[in-house]
Amino acid sequence: MQEITGVISQTSTPYSEFKNHVGEVVTIKGAIHNIRDMSDFAFIIVRTARELIQCVYSPEFSDYRLTAEVTEQCSAKITGKVVKSETRDGSERFELQIHNIELLSVPAAIPPVVISKKQVNCELSVNLDYRPVTLRNPKERAIFKIQEGIQRGFREFLQSQGFTEIHSPKINFAGAEGGTNVFKLDYFGKTVFLAQSPQLYKQALVPVYERVFEIAPVFRAEHHDTSRHLNEYISMDFEMGFIDSFYDIMNMETGALKYIMQLLKTEYAPEVELLKAEIPEIGTIPCVKFKDAKELCVKKLKNITDMKDFEPEEEAFLGKWAKQQFNSDFLFVTHYLSKKRPFYTMDDPEDPEVTLSFDLLFRGIEITSGGQRIHDYNMQVEKMKKLGMNPDEFETYLMLHKYGAPPHGGLGLGLERLTMHLLGFKNVRQAAMFPRDINRVTP
Ligand code: ATP
Ligand code: MG
Repeated sequence: MQEITGVISQTSTPYSEFKNHVGEVVTIKGAIHNIRDMSDFAFIIVRTARELIQCVYSPEFSDYRLTAEVTEQCSAKITGKVVKSETRDGSERFELQIHNIELLSVPAAIPPVVISKKQVNCELSVNLDYRPVTLRNPKERAIFKIQEGIQRGFREFLQSQGFTEIHSPKINFAGAEGGTNVFKLDYFGKTVFLAQSPQLYKQALVPVYERVFEIAPVFRAEHHDTSRHLNEYISMDFEMGFIDSFYDIMNMETGALKYIMQLLKTEYAPEVELLKAEIPEIGTIPCVKFKDAKELCVKKLKNITDMKDFEPEEEAFLGKWAKQQFNSDFLFVTHYLSKKRPFYTMDDPEDPEVTLSFDLLFRGIEITSGGQRIHDYNMQVEKMKKLGMNPDEFETYLMLHKYGAPPHGGLGLGLERLTMHLLGFKNVRQAAMFPRDINRVTP
């Protein structure tokens, strides 16, 4: 009888351990990534989860003979001797002299896109059409390893600060962010909405856990095809109670970003190197009020018509300004106009035209919106009425206020947006594993 012990034995030697096995025979498992046949010998590059391992075939090494069946994308178990090889820059490198190749699976067809070169050289749309294949390219997959690092850093940092991880429902009775970009869904004959953000639920959990966070998909029916909007994206959200002011939230975010960047530099160094990612140094992050930032834009840029919000060119300008003035890749813009922020946003008691809210710009693009929320029941009901909303429709949301909530606030940070600007991409789709946009729901 097979006994299940819960122990998974290591059957493949990672490249990182090769240095301890020089002269020994080891086994690796992976995909044949690339074959360079040099007639009397061949280089076979094997792709494992995070590495590329150079293996060398020669009839001199063993009785094994390479056959035509060994092709790119075969899954294989390869046994061979670890040897130290020379590199041009004199650094240490190891390779495997092949003693045997056992094929575990053979592909039915040649990939439609070349993935064994340094990078996938095709149009983005073709890259996205063949995502299950193109993601195998080391540079492509490195993007999402970095993305994993960002999420991990966010989670680890917030956990260290006493936050509880939550999951809020994605099928909801109302959209939280307003506007026209909410997806409607037929729910057994009733109209319901896909979550635009976890806002209403994370607030409800503040009186429960004080500090909560969520990393999950949200849905926005963006009607325009832009390079920075997806219809489904991963939102990294947190919400915290007992704040003294909304600057507490910005401090928490700054702490999280510092932690994330440090984690990327250390634990994700191979991917950072492969993608030549410029990881920002974060000291302190400068803050500017919306009104002052707008004045700067009006002074420096022409044809500014919308005085209530920023155009992308204005954000780009502010990004450059922050870099020049403060040598910072990040800039907090605070006190956005009340009319431009959602119904749950706390107005500034000193100037009710503006809110206790902020956006964080990273290299000139918004990556976060956040702020203090209304915690007083009457104040929230009044604001809803003022905005033409019916408080009765929000009865379950308002329970949080009605039955007592501490001063609180939080934020939402778009994972793909952050990844995009960290890696210097022009299009957010490059930072989405399987992007959903106005024209794409496959693969
Ligand atoms: P924008 O003005 O860029 O359309 P927003 O102000 O409507 O964004 P928020 O509701 O503030 O978006 O969402 C918080 C964060 O989520 C944004 O700062 C951004 O990082 C990200 N985000 C928002 N919408 C999208 C989208 N459609 N695709 C990808 N990320 C998004
Ligand atoms: Mg925003």
